[in-house]
Amino acid sequence: MENFFNTNNQRADVPLVTQYDDLKDNYKQIFVEAAESLRSEISKFKPSNPCTLCPVKDCKIEEKDVFTPYPPNCAYREWQLKILAFLAGDYRQKLKNTYKMIMDKKSEYNCARCGACCRLATSEFSYSQLKQKAQKGDKFASDFVSVFVPYKDEKEAKKANPEYFQLLNELVEDQKVYYYYCPKLNGNECSDYENRPDVCRDFPHNPLKLLPSSCSFNEWKKSVSRSAMMLKAKVDIIEFYKNKLG
Ligand code: SF4
Ligand code: SF4
Repeated sequence: MENFFNTNNQRADVPLVTQYDDLKDNYKQIFVEAAESLRSEISKFKPSNPCTLCPVKDCKIEEKDVFTPYPPNCAYREWQLKILAFLAGDYRQKLKNTYKMIMDKKSEYNCARCGACCRLATSEFSYSQLKQKAQKGDKFASDFVSVFVPYKDEKEAKKANPEYFQLLNELVEDQKVYYYYCPKLNGNECSDYENRPDVCRDFPHNPLKLLPSSCSFNEWKKSVSRSAMMLKAKVDIIEFYKNKLG
């Protein structure tokens, strides 16, 4: 993981495909790190040898692991419930603070106005699905359809940014992706800059999203990627714990 997120290694001139391969390779490592770090946090609550006072008869549980199913009166079940409360409370707040720190850091970087994000935007939703979502009050979808329109076909979308297009295609693999552009783009300039919606002002919305290589926010992405990856891993792990212990 370190080699991908190390700013010395992730230069702007490294092709997007290489960056993506590194990301995939290193995510596994950071996921393990995140899981181990959480294990260490929750082991602090683990009761020590409560079985001597246990009211449960004939318990044959030998391995007192966090994911072992325990009977209701077992002290280890209490431990599991404490873990769930911790994950929903203090731990969640810590992750929220990390997320805020990551997004706050974006303000240190400026848009280079290359126009790449206006020229080729993607969504997992079709234009009509986005419009439906907008009608139901989805702010992001509403902003999106207020400026973006679909490309006629994938060939046209590919022409807008062949490298980015190819990588996005590889990323989603068998999932359908829809390509859009904004007709307000004039050369590399927004012809309605003052009135652009939040979907434009807030781009990029996610430091783990692949950005066009010309995007100046790649620098932000580099500086926060490791924290963002760790955050994503922890969020995924929390979900796993909730499902197993809930
Ligand atoms: S409104 Fe302007 S900033 Fe937003 S996508 Fe269109 S050209 Fe880009
Ligand atoms: S791709 Fe990045 S640098 Fe280019 S216009 Fe969009 S936000 Fe700005």
